[in-house]
Amino acid sequence: MAEGGGAAPLISAVFKETGRAFTIGITGPPGVGKSTLSGALVKRARQEGKSVGLILVDPSSPFSKGALLGDRIRLSDHFTDPAVFIRSMASRGHLGGIAGATGDAVMLMDAFGKDLIIVETVGVGQSEIEIAEVADTTVVCLQPGSGDSIQVLKAGIMEIADVFVVNKADHPMAAQLRREIRIMMTMLDWQGWAPALVMTQATTGEGIDELWEALWAHRAYLEESGELRAKRASAFAHEVRNLVLGRLGDVVDWAMAQAMELGLMERVADRALDPYSAAERIIANIDPKVVPTSGTRLAPRVRATVKGLYAPMEAEMAHHRGAGV
Ligand code: GDP
Repeated sequence: MAEGGGAAPLISAVFKETGRAFTIGITGPPGVGKSTLSGALVKRARQEGKSVGLILVDPSSPFSKGALLGDRIRLSDHFTDPAVFIRSMASRGHLGGIAGATGDAVMLMDAFGKDLIIVETVGVGQSEIEIAEVADTTVVCLQPGSGDSIQVLKAGIMEIADVFVVNKADHPMAAQLRREIRIMMTMLDWQGWAPALVMTQATTGEGIDELWEALWAHRAYLEESGELRAKRASAFAHEVRNLVLGRLGDVVDWAMAQAMELGLMERVADRALDPYSAAERIIANIDPKVVPTSGTRLAPRVRATVKGLYAPMEAEMAHHRGAGV
């Protein structure tokens, strides 16, 4: 339901039960070892008797369905453990992206009583920044010999990392990457928490204890400094803003669809009306309090669809409905 955009009644019902879980975001480029690392963290958490929710976010395209399946296979050790809930989600097409649907899923798992919630996302563009809104602690995962560190500085991801992980510590360039990150860290002024830097070998579990310690050290810092509350308030501000934008977006799409039916865009294409004036006309006709009914939305022009992939979400929702969920 959360993925289908229908979480509102659920969240209203369980919201008071949320806020207890420790939410960890793991981000980094594809292949860096995020899933292997998540698997190792799930194992570590289970040793401590903690229950875990794991959300694998696919921010990009329907083509990566296979990759997500691969992720799930890597996590197969935990499939039969009732205290571990694994879910992959597509954030594409959901307004608010990761902070939207995933935020809802995190709250639901929190209410469900999971002690630890891990949100794993591929680092492409905006998604790492968004994960920091959802997570209490953000882990940025890098691997040696790939020029990752330069990318990190470029993309401004440095600022969102609470913990840096140099995974594949068995790689000959690992120590160099650690040095590079250390140097980059000296270039920033840190207020409060300076990111921890941990070397791991996710495949063998080496360094996982150190990572575990670093995560809980950050968590303790957040609580003691009062930053957890401030951080969550700012994350909710972001989320509420997205919800407002989502609603306004519907109204705008509706107004656009109507304007197009009336041929307004043809007039722009004919150079009879300029785009700014067209926008003004649409704005003048918008009433944000009028909630449009579905079916009137502006549909994007689709040039290509993936063969064999037909609205998987619809099928899944229908399945849930059939099962009385
Ligand atoms: P993700 O795409 O970031 O989730 O990365 P995966 O967890 O799928 O790992 C990608 C590949 O790197 C897999 O073949 C892993 O077995 C491998 N890998 C993960 N961690 C390590 C490590 O510490 N050392 C080495 N040598 N390989 C690793």
